[in-house]
Amino acid sequence: MNAFQRRGACPALSTPMQTGDGLLVRLNPVAGGLSPKALIGLSESAARHGNGIMEITARGSIQIRGLTAASAGQLAIEVNALGIVVRTGVPVETGPLAGLDQQEIADPRPLAEAIRAAIAKTDLPSKLGPKVSVVVDGGGAVSLDAVLADIRLVAIPERGSTRWQLSTGGTAITARPQALLDEAGACEAALAILQAVAAKGRESRARDLTHPFTMTSGSAASLSERRHPTDSIPIGILSLVNHASTVGIALPFGSMPAERIAKLCTEAAARGTEEIRPAPQRTLLFMGLTKKVCADLQQAASTFGFVTDVADPRLHIAACPGEPACASGRIATREVAETVASNHAGLLDGSFTLHISGCAKGCAHPATAALTLVGGENGAGLVVDGTAKALPPRYSPRYEAARGLGRVAELADSARHSNETFAASLARLGEAAITDAFARLSTD
Ligand code: SF4
Repeated sequence: MNAFQRRGACPALSTPMQTGDGLLVRLNPVAGGLSPKALIGLSESAARHGNGIMEITARGSIQIRGLTAASAGQLAIEVNALGIVVRTGVPVETGPLAGLDQQEIADPRPLAEAIRAAIAKTDLPSKLGPKVSVVVDGGGAVSLDAVLADIRLVAIPERGSTRWQLSTGGTAITARPQALLDEAGACEAALAILQAVAAKGRESRARDLTHPFTMTSGSAASLSERRHPTDSIPIGILSLVNHASTVGIALPFGSMPAERIAKLCTEAAARGTEEIRPAPQRTLLFMGLTKKVCADLQQAASTFGFVTDVADPRLHIAACPGEPACASGRIATREVAETVASNHAGLLDGSFTLHISGCAKGCAHPATAALTLVGGENGAGLVVDGTAKALPPRYSPRYEAARGLGRVAELADSARHSNETFAASLARLGEAAITDAFARLSTD
């Protein structure tokens, strides 16, 4: 297996991607979920062959890093032996509770299936780039609004039936609205857009199309009916249509030692879970339990260090596995993140993301963040309003990084006006004051 994909491509099980920490694979079970036994087996394989950490991504994919060419091959064999069938081809995604969610506007699975079947009759899979994707969102408790997609179809209720709001490129907030369609029209439009993207070449995306979709007479309903995007995280207990409940539990910073995931799955299996579904926003949904058992499992997950409360300040930190899990890591990202979250929870008020990156690659948060702590040869650098790739104006010794962020938290708190967010206070303070506070001890 030496035809590994270039950076930026989608690293399926059969085509791992080269990273700063060996090879990485990302997998999505075809069935949507895994039995506890299969997820325990996968965790054990990840611990054996990877860097010992398992991740759930913002899209709800399972990710394993630190593989070699030989161990990636072995992992693929073991995934097969566990009976885990992974999705291949153009991703057409629905929410993890599609068809089971009490709050859902419409079941998105028939439309998603129609689009998959239409794609299967074409040569699109070989012509489209690996990142091109379609999201079919029936609404409900688990939001797909933050998931990037080339084509987004969102259910909108209309006089007892459903229309599908079509938009292209980006998240629910940034995508360009195109039309409101019935189910057949939505399928037809999705295929036409994918064909237009493919015609422009494998590097092309729907956002590159000047006129992605031309409205037909049947599609020109008012776009003022758009559903408002939400950024809800599926943490907590949710009621399902079949009178059962599910509990959403998040991985802190999107990753956990594989053996702790296996431990949680063992607890879940002992309480009767038959299926565990990876979900957006770095969560796992434990299906088919009573509310009481969900609460009991939440308690167990919390003692293992998982996130079980939407108010958990760790949800506002993006941290990669870092040192020692990742070979490129120059700071112990998770340790710093846990220390800041427990000592300075007030700073993490949800108004901004604190990014803690083991190195300049910035895997956990490629976008700009108000504060980015980044490990490098000179120690731990702090970037204000930039990415991990920017040159930090000031550094502190690695062992001082958490204390340095603590000083920034104290400064921002003391400068904060009443009812002001920390993001506003940091913006007012500016780069020089913030990085001075961060690096103070190292320059005194
Ligand atoms: S950003 Fe983090 S996970 Fe990515 S290569 Fe650097 S240390 Fe490793």
